[in-house]
Amino acid sequence: MLRACLTDFLALFFPQACLACQAALVAGEQHLCTMCRAELPYTNYHQLPAAHNPLSRRFWGKLPVTHTLSYLRFLRHGQVQHLLHQLKYQGQQDVGKALGQLYGAELATAGLSPEFDLIVPVPLHRRKLARRGYNQADAFAAGLATALPCSWSATALRRTEHTASQTRKSRTERWQNVATVFEVAQPQEVVGRHILLVDDVLTTGATLEACGAALLAAGARQLSIATIACAE
Ligand SMILES: [Zn+2]
Repeated sequence: MLRACLTDFLALFFPQACLACQAALVAGEQHLCTMCRAELPYTNYHQLPAAHNPLSRRFWGKLPVTHTLSYLRFLRHGQVQHLLHQLKYQGQQDVGKALGQLYGAELATAGLSPEFDLIVPVPLHRRKLARRGYNQADAFAAGLATALPCSWSATALRRTEHTASQTRKSRTERWQNVATVFEVAQPQEVVGRHILLVDDVLTTGATLEACGAALLAAGARQLSIATIACAE
């Protein structure tokens, strides 16, 4: 109670802003304002049977993925783009952690918690990691891990070489670019386990596919995927 009062008191002088629209948060709101909470473009794919989940199709014939999950739809110039921009380029790791906690709570309510043994974020190359100071997928993994709850590992997977920027490449070129760059650094962490592989955005799925293939080849029993947002 005292702590709640103190938080409200401090908020008078240092109001926290909504991570999506920047409006000042009021008492009882955390990370996102009530309006954004209500209006963000949630996919709710976790409520659909796998056969009806449109994201599952992206991996059909390529990789056996049990659940393909994404919290939000990525819309250009929308609030989701703003959230991801803050997470990736403005040093706001809290955005990833908060979204991970919110989504993790929903997945737990849907009864998915017992399915996953370990959360593994897609790793950044160490040069990029050094430049940014953090991996945005780690923040999302940490948030999910708290809410599900489930353990997570930033060391299970690693990148083996530098990849050029993905943005100007065709799908085939992207695939060739990422296919050989991931390896399981700690096989004992993944053998026989259902791995929830996580990243910030699902676009072509090439990076997630390469990571997933490496995890299954190293002995993971089952693979699921979760991202903050998906481009359609
Ligand atoms: Zn808002």
